[in-house]
Amino acid sequence: MAGVDLSIVGRVVTGRGAPARAEILVAGGRIAEVREPPSDQPPARRIDTGEAYLLPGAIDCHVHSGSHPGEGLGALTAAAAAGGVTTVVDMPYDAEAPVVDVDVLSAKRDRVAQQALVDVALLGTVRPGTGAADVAPLVEAGVVGFKLSLFCTDARRFPRIHDEQFLEVLAAIRDCGSIACVHAENEEIIKPLIARARQAGERSPLAHCRSRPPVSETQAVLTALEYARETGARLHLCHLSLPRSVDLAARYAAEGARVSMETCPHYLCFSEEDMERQGGRLKINPPLRSPADREGLWERLTAGKIDAVASDHAPWPLSDKTHADVFDNHSGAPGVETLLTVVACGIEARGGNMNDVAQVVSARPAALFGLSGRKGSLEAGKDADVVAFDPGAAFTLDEAKLHSNAGWSPYDKMAFSGRVTLTVSRGEVVWDGEQLQGRPGRGQVVEGSRHE
Ligand SMILES: [Zn+2]
Repeated sequence: MAGVDLSIVGRVVTGRGAPARAEILVAGGRIAEVREPPSDQPPARRIDTGEAYLLPGAIDCHVHSGSHPGEGLGALTAAAAAGGVTTVVDMPYDAEAPVVDVDVLSAKRDRVAQQALVDVALLGTVRPGTGAADVAPLVEAGVVGFKLSLFCTDARRFPRIHDEQFLEVLAAIRDCGSIACVHAENEEIIKPLIARARQAGERSPLAHCRSRPPVSETQAVLTALEYARETGARLHLCHLSLPRSVDLAARYAAEGARVSMETCPHYLCFSEEDMERQGGRLKINPPLRSPADREGLWERLTAGKIDAVASDHAPWPLSDKTHADVFDNHSGAPGVETLLTVVACGIEARGGNMNDVAQVVSARPAALFGLSGRKGSLEAGKDADVVAFDPGAAFTLDEAKLHSNAGWSPYDKMAFSGRVTLTVSRGEVVWDGEQLQGRPGRGQVVEGSRHE
């Protein structure tokens, strides 16, 4: 076995049939061969994970490394590695400077080269002023897609792109063969409801959910779908919280619109009933919905109707999440380290299997962002991004043991049936089940191949 420097043995998840015990042979950071059954003559270094499943490294296609300066790509990718995530798609809304031009992008690439422990794909966005003109230079410089918002979260960092520009920007994204990831919430519905609640002195956690009613999401989803249908641009709907949003997207896809969609672990695990206990910690946009909506998302996920589950990791420390007035808290929660565990345990508990898990946290996200040439499956020639998930290693989550700078987790004290026991990134162990390994800065920027 010339050139093979590592072998990993376990139940290999290939996407077809029941995972069987096999051996992944790694040479030069790539998968040389998947051999079933494992050979009698192991190469110099073999890691046997026993009955654990070996999955393609998870791709978290929605994280925010830079929304809070305390996090950065170092802490974020450390948390990713410990959670079995070997590639993150990082949002462009950084506090320092949003990724709207080639200079900002190049500074961010430098930070990947200094800090990242696993691989990073980068999104760009556009300035409300220049809009479509920002698109082509960023694509040339290596972004895998764009994030656009129909809601103004922050005028500088996270602005709204108004309807008059949206069509032009989508057309430019289409012409570059890129993809538009859209935050779909309707500002005209939400902002007056927040103002009214504040005026009336409503400050309880549930007031946040009431200020962003279901129609404020579904209406904006429809807007994005109509614009995608009109322009022929590829649209990825971020963080859908409602079964109806999924159904609307599916209807447009059936009509021929090029649309994909994601939901997040928090919409699958929590409902507005959890707001009372967790308060501002679970203030997330869009908000948590009813228990029936949560179950409706699970039904659609396990039926293969949702492309991806992504964390929408937002690394706010507790000091930004525990104000008594819910509206004073930042929106979002950390989740990159818990993504794979929540999805794997949840899908298994609902009768799904590890092929289904690999589909929504690795294969589909890779395809959406043009990364399938290197990532998303365990096949010869692909990057040796491999994660071991032990389905029998039950544990109770302790937020103090996580690696994000946020320092807390909405899943604290929750019981899980299995855990991530090994993460290998391009043939290098970065998480051994107990400790992080590998040098910050070993992570690389990955660029996608463009869609036609
Ligand atoms: Zn986000």
